[in-house]
Amino acid sequence: MMAFLSVRDLVVAYGAIQAVRGVSFDVEQGEIVSLIGSNGAGKTTTLRTVSGLLRPVSGEILLNGEPIQKLPAHQILSKGVAHSPEGRRLFARMSVEENLRLGAYTRKDEAGVLKDMQRVYDLFPVLGERRGNKAGLFSGGEQQMLAIGRALMSSPKLLMLDEPSMGLSPIMTQKIFDTVKELRDAGTTVLLVEQNALSALALSDKAYVIDLGRTTLSGTGRELLADPRVQEAYLGEGAST
Ligand code: ATP
Repeated sequence: MMAFLSVRDLVVAYGAIQAVRGVSFDVEQGEIVSLIGSNGAGKTTTLRTVSGLLRPVSGEILLNGEPIQKLPAHQILSKGVAHSPEGRRLFARMSVEENLRLGAYTRKDEAGVLKDMQRVYDLFPVLGERRGNKAGLFSGGEQQMLAIGRALMSSPKLLMLDEPSMGLSPIMTQKIFDTVKELRDAGTTVLLVEQNALSALALSDKAYVIDLGRTTLSGTGRELLADPRVQEAYLGEGAST
């Protein structure tokens, strides 16, 4: 079966610095797939390249078999790939509703936009209750909900989440990850980047380890949780993350 998203031998550089030196992975429809690895391993760069925000030096990104690595970001978004970036990147002085609308900027179907906005409020009731409030006044967890909600406003087939647990309490992290599972169960495919390897692997159908810009290991979440190499480097005492 052809993967929904297939990344092949991706190489991405910032000037002379090669941040990604050979990343390959597949995401099948309906899966949660995680990319885990230490700080600076190249995970964020990989997501930004899939989104069309960066151009690869070489390699291929196939969406349903179609190469997308030369398309502009807005076309990739229109094809159903949404990105909730590291650090959330919300507009602090804009309301919840205004931030959500920005996630739907490529859409012309107002009825569909309103329906998806209601779906976000059903998923995260606190956002609905405070829809007129400015995003900058929210807690970290609420801001993360809003960042995910904004990505959902393009009605994506593939939702890419970069470090959604960053800076959140364990309880809030659990809530966010429960929501990710709910979205997967409702049919959204999820590509997750996380330094919190334990939580990410427990949630994932499949995962890949990225080390120094290369994919080095892959397996089901359960297989990688049980792998001594993963335990030593990312889960246990002396883990580098
Ligand atoms: P993190 O979890 O810290 O975001 P990461 O695995 O996502 O880590 P990247 O952010 O993709 O890693 O960074 C990979 C490498 O590229 C690092 O060595 C980083 O210093 C470098 N890098 C990232 N962004 C830039 C940039 N704008 N210019 C130059 N180098 C960069």
